[in-house]
Amino acid sequence: MLKKILYTIWVVLFCVAAFFGLKNTNFNSFINMIENRTFDLRQNIMINAQSKTPDKNIVIVAIDEATYEYTLDHYGEWPLPRDIYVKLIDYLEKQNPKIIAFDLMFVKSFKSAPQADMALINAMKKYKNVYTAMNLDNQDEDLRIPPELPEKLSVNVANYSNIDFEDLTFTNCRKILDGILDNTENIGMINVSRADDGILRKMPLFVKYKDKFYSQLGLKVAIDAINSSESAPVDKHNFVIDKDSNLLFGKRKIFLDSDGSAILNWYGASGTYEQVPMYKLIKAVNGEIKDTGYDFKDKIIYFGTTASALFDIKTTPTDKTFPGVEVQATFVNNILDNNFITKADKSVTIFTGLLLALLIGFCTMRITSAFISSLASVSIYLIYLIGSYYAMKYFNIWLEVIYPLILSILAFISAFIVKYLIKSRDFEQQYKLATTDGLTELYNHRYFQEQMQMLVENSKRYGTEFSLIILDIDFFKKFNDTFGHQAGDAVLRQVAHTLKKNVRATDIVCRYGGEEMSIILPNTPKDEAYTTAQKICERVASNKYKLNSEKESSVTISLGVATFPHDGATPSDIIDCADKRLYNAKHNGRNQVGE
Ligand code: GH3
Ligand code: MG
Ligand code: MG
Repeated sequence: MLKKILYTIWVVLFCVAAFFGLKNTNFNSFINMIENRTFDLRQNIMINAQSKTPDKNIVIVAIDEATYEYTLDHYGEWPLPRDIYVKLIDYLEKQNPKIIAFDLMFVKSFKSAPQADMALINAMKKYKNVYTAMNLDNQDEDLRIPPELPEKLSVNVANYSNIDFEDLTFTNCRKILDGILDNTENIGMINVSRADDGILRKMPLFVKYKDKFYSQLGLKVAIDAINSSESAPVDKHNFVIDKDSNLLFGKRKIFLDSDGSAILNWYGASGTYEQVPMYKLIKAVNGEIKDTGYDFKDKIIYFGTTASALFDIKTTPTDKTFPGVEVQATFVNNILDNNFITKADKSVTIFTGLLLALLIGFCTMRITSAFISSLASVSIYLIYLIGSYYAMKYFNIWLEVIYPLILSILAFISAFIVKYLIKSRDFEQQYKLATTDGLTELYNHRYFQEQMQMLVENSKRYGTEFSLIILDIDFFKKFNDTFGHQAGDAVLRQVAHTLKKNVRATDIVCRYGGEEMSIILPNTPKDEAYTTAQKICERVASNKYKLNSEKESSVTISLGVATFPHDGATPSDIIDCADKRLYNAKHNGRNQVGE
């Protein structure tokens, strides 16, 4: 009973804890953080297995440490004068690249000469395949007033999903040169989205500002690349997100996570893409060297900083120091390859979690050996874990592993507890079977002997007394002969019940054998035992016993009482003495307590 109450309390407490645990955002974000780390782990195993190769057509013109030094040496300061970029653009355009994109922001600056700015604006106007970047932020209006952006830069996003873009909504931005804003549409945003642990796993496709959507730089670059080489064109102004959070994208579909970002699938640590140090290009443009030795035909060229002194270094799942420009390259690569990660729906997580829990619970219950059942449970989860790795490797699917792990552990523990409870109940049942008599449900002869032995020893040690009553039904053979064995059995059961009802809870009523029964009365002196025997004798005689549904009859019993230590020092002495007095009662005419 107590165990049942404790078990119920445990289950209720557990359910309450689970309910509040799942509703608690701290708990959830803690779990998500671990889940994210398992994603990183899978990504790292994948890149070590070199399962995905980066796009050979993406080249990075890196403003690396050497370029930074070169700039300081030759121009005295960073940033570079903007007319240098114009020369670089002109130089590269001669080789017919597919796209030139700057992961750099050309903002208004007193350091920059107006004619150099003008030259850059003109170059951007002239070449339709040159792209540049801008960034939204949440700066206070005290610092700068949120500027208006040209209408043509915003895009339409028809959102039929639950994504609310709240995390990707910004209140301010730093304008780039007005001339660029006015003269080209080729401006993309370069906001990134970081997880709570600071690691960059996702990229927004759109960011929101003053109630309008703006495309990510990489998105514009990728659309241009797709439209110049594929038959199914992608509309770069109008987008649709379906109810399953997929951005419909020509013949591709891009899955967006709950915050509106796409989950990047990484190709390696930093340095995956072909890199040309920018100073080499400058040298070639200035005629210091004849040629860079690189072929830029049909390439997607990304300009960006990789020097740590220029502060555009991110932490990604595959590298602690991953340049922002390579994140852009990875993003474009993911679009071109249709290679983003799709996160399995919550319902899939719940379903697989419950399935694992069921399997593990079943194994734990069924397998007798605790060692083997533990091994089986761990194996089941490991198989799932390996499956989740291959799901990501071959199908780009992120199956969650932590919630299923929690469910599996709970299933294992619960199954273990239930198994233990069932076992202990089995043990109780077996103990009862071994100590009781099937017909009368009194204790059996073996238990009687054990108890006699124990009581003699205890009474000896503590100097106490105990009594024994042995009783026998009178003329029971005749009773059986008259009414049949079945009626005899019924009477035996009812006499046993009468005995139990008329003694103390601490008294031990046993079936001695046949129609003989015995009662051990601990801590009971002779006269008290005699009185009890007398009372029982009267009750049994006065009772009516049902033989079957119609007939009733009555029986009498004869009893003998003996007390330790007066009547003997061993169990058999006491039993002999009680037996002798029972015989006396029979001899004296039955239905009495023998002297
Ligand atoms: P007495 O008054 O001298 O004890 O006479 P008695 O007939 O009771 O004594 P006896 O020992 O000759 O017979 C005992 C009878 O009890 C024999 C047997 O048929 C009956 N008996 C013993 N065990 C059971 C039982 O489990 N069920 C039934 N129905 N009868 C039993
Ligand atoms: Mg008998
Ligand atoms: Mg008898």
